[in-house]
Amino acid sequence: MSYNLVWFKRDLRVHDHAPLLHASRNGPVLCVFIIEPSLWAAADAATQHYLFLRESLLDLDIALRKRGGGLCIEIGEAVDVLDRLWHEAPFKTLYSYQETGNWLSFQRDLAVQRWCRSHGLKWHEFAQFGVVRRLQNRDLWKAHWEALMAEPCLDPPSCDWIAAPQPPILPDPQALGLIQPDPPQRQIGGRRQGIETLRDFLFDRCGAYRGGISSPLSAPTACSRLSPYLAFGCLSLREVVHATRRQLDVLPSNDVRRVGLTAFVSRLYWHCHFMQKLESEPELEFTNLHRGYDGLREADWNPAHFQALTSGQTGWPLVDACVAMLNQTGWLNFRMRAMIVSVASYPLWLHWQPVGTWLAQQFLDYEPGIHWSQMQMQAGTTGINTTRVYNPIKQARDHDPQGHFVRHWLPALRRVPKEWLFEPWRMPVKLQQQCGVIVGVDIAEPLVDLECATRQAKARLYQVRGRAEVKAAKAAIVEKHGSRKQLTRRRKTKVAAGDWVQTQLEF
Ligand SMILES: Cc1cc2nc3c(=O)[nH]c(=O)nc-3n(C[C@H](O)[C@H](O)[C@H](O)COP(=O)(O)OP(=O)(O)OC[C@H]3O[C@@H](n4cnc5c(N)ncnc54)[C@H](O)[C@@H]3O)c2cc1C
Repeated sequence: MSYNLVWFKRDLRVHDHAPLLHASRNGPVLCVFIIEPSLWAAADAATQHYLFLRESLLDLDIALRKRGGGLCIEIGEAVDVLDRLWHEAPFKTLYSYQETGNWLSFQRDLAVQRWCRSHGLKWHEFAQFGVVRRLQNRDLWKAHWEALMAEPCLDPPSCDWIAAPQPPILPDPQALGLIQPDPPQRQIGGRRQGIETLRDFLFDRCGAYRGGISSPLSAPTACSRLSPYLAFGCLSLREVVHATRRQLDVLPSNDVRRVGLTAFVSRLYWHCHFMQKLESEPELEFTNLHRGYDGLREADWNPAHFQALTSGQTGWPLVDACVAMLNQTGWLNFRMRAMIVSVASYPLWLHWQPVGTWLAQQFLDYEPGIHWSQMQMQAGTTGINTTRVYNPIKQARDHDPQGHFVRHWLPALRRVPKEWLFEPWRMPVKLQQQCGVIVGVDIAEPLVDLECATRQAKARLYQVRGRAEVKAAKAAIVEKHGSRKQLTRRRKTKVAAGDWVQTQLEF
């Protein structure tokens, strides 16, 4: 008996799952997830990613078994596993989503494509996000995104399942060489947790979105916190867009939550906008988007600066507090991520690539397309974005005026008076002794003078930017990667309150 193989990757759900639906229409279905050792040995992989994945896979297996199927877990390199399965019992078609992943997964997909061709096998790949493969022109991209999001979400199909052994056996992280600590307060994986998070945000927390997402104090509850569930595909982007728009449709016009939800939808659009950049240019994981910036920071690698940053010892309290929070939770809000990269790229003058690899491990929601595009944008190497340099002392004054965040994550600073909290190295020695916090002993002393080092860094960047050939090359980058107009307003259709809960958010 021939069958269809559905290869789950970062799309760990049965709802709104095109490969599963199309496979079910073509005959019996075997659902497979492949744990690929080479991907887990990569520098951007971390224990927390694997544990979140494991939780999501167990949840997916339950959802499949509820419907009569189950998830078959295979361990090995994708081509080897597919080849083995095919030799054991040839399948007629391979179904999966397209993946805009890191360089390794891109190469893996090319190898799978070659393998399929050599076996005369059809591989149906579907677009999971508003990302267009082999995009020729960005002009129609927004319309494409809207059209994809306007399509109805797909119900889980009834399938003629091929049984999977029960329960799925998932190796421990150590067996894959993953040794990083798991942040004790990280989010838990799985679709059920994802739905809870979405409901909680749309019905309750979204009121704080506007005005609450920039401060690291309010952001953990004001932001949706959906990023890991989107990154691992526990929720589809389209079902989040649908649920949000339905909620928008039922909220009164003067409801404060409308502003937040509208801003939230534009971020869901950004999600794909940034991923498109990596899809169109996979090399941007390693090379400057604007090649005119090559050589800007490469030769100046400073291991002491990198060590201070990654161990939360820069001496700038807000930066170190953010690193402490990352270690505990695996998450930071956008503004604080941008600030960390800015501090790394300007006063500490570190190249974005190793910093980005370290942060990829730290962020539970690591999504290569967003991550590497943002890394380059914040480091000033895209050549098309405004240079944003965040001063960590000003950011602390603006977003943590009472010092609650800094004191919470850096207990050593709890006894430092408020006037000195964001610049403790300026504290008179006598005061340091009085409050029992000695700079250089209990807390780090900054490695560089912030103002002076930032000024020098900007000057070096502007020098490159000013070159005629660098200016000339900008237009082609804008043409290929630049966003076009703002999102057009969607025509509204009224639906009854609560409709979406039943129709969209099922496990
Ligand atoms: C250097 C740097 C690296 C980043 N790396 C990642 C990453 O690996 N994965 C990731 O999901 N986000 C990344 N972001 C974007 C952003 O910080 C996170 O999406 C956000 O903090 C996740 O929290 P949330 O889901 O509560 O966000 P919300 O504000 O609730 O946003 C909802 C969703 O919109 C998308 N989104 C939000 N902001 C952005 C943005 N600026 N660009 C693109 N998409 C966005 C995400 O999918 C997010 O889950 C990065 C930002 C920076 C500055």
